[in-house]
Amino acid sequence: MTQSVAPHHMVIRFAPSPTGRLHMGHGWSALMAWDMARGAGGAFRLRIEDIDGTRSRPEHVAGIIEDLQWLGVDWDGEIVLQSARLAQYDAALERLREMGLLYPCFCTRADIQAQWTASASAPHGPEGAIYPGTCRHLSGAEGARRIAAGDTHAWRINMAEAVARVGPLHWTALPFPPGDGTERKIAADPLPAGDVVLARKDAPASYHLSCTLDDAAMGVTHVLRGEDLFATTHIHRLIQALLDLPTPAYVHHPLLVGMDGKRLAKRSGSIALADLRAQGVDPAALAADLRAARFPVGISLGQA
Ligand code: GLU
Repeated sequence: MTQSVAPHHMVIRFAPSPTGRLHMGHGWSALMAWDMARGAGGAFRLRIEDIDGTRSRPEHVAGIIEDLQWLGVDWDGEIVLQSARLAQYDAALERLREMGLLYPCFCTRADIQAQWTASASAPHGPEGAIYPGTCRHLSGAEGARRIAAGDTHAWRINMAEAVARVGPLHWTALPFPPGDGTERKIAADPLPAGDVVLARKDAPASYHLSCTLDDAAMGVTHVLRGEDLFATTHIHRLIQALLDLPTPAYVHHPLLVGMDGKRLAKRSGSIALADLRAQGVDPAALAADLRAARFPVGISLGQA
């Protein structure tokens, strides 16, 4: 990766997916990360997670850049596009395959749903029912035959084997707001997530793999993101250990909720920054309100 960022003791990134314009929840998260980086004289980087072929739209990349600039968030160095890093993801997948930790999975969503329905108690992880492991039992020869026959497949990690291989792992959780409280050493517990997908049928790498590799390649020292991603940090810590990558410290912030008590991001009724801009909202005042976690009043709900 060509980078023009001088070494910093702290490197923080904001990593939106271009599946739409940024909402207030994103704006708040970006400001929190930016403040943490700038407050420590560190670097703030921008990464666009644009390899989700079904939901990412190129036109949203420019929109996200515009939204951040409007809000007063700037960044160091070049913007990293995940779509430009596919070779790195492939190399990591190949390494994991050579370690015997990946297997091809030919199950469709409907197959997996049927297996859950058929089993009396589908095992659950932090994000719902987990993959029942069907394709883990296919022989290598059968897997190779089906791949050669052109069967579409994802690549899953054999979680139990991966966990056994690396042994006990830990990661550091820093308090939010930064500096407000003590840091905690957390034992990584990726097993309940099951055999997660590392390369999707419709994307060359899953979020878990691309995010972990990119944070390392960008020299990220601190990851600040929503607490909805707390459980994924266990998985990312495992991938770091398997691929000899450094481990950043993690800050998980609560999700900004609107006046209706619902989280702002990813809800159809949440407010897009672009709508606020169109309504003539002053970005400096909005940023101040978001920093104070005050929901701006007097703004009509835009079509998000
Ligand atoms: N693209 C992810 C999102 O928008 C980034 C998550 C992360 O910060 O690791 O939710």
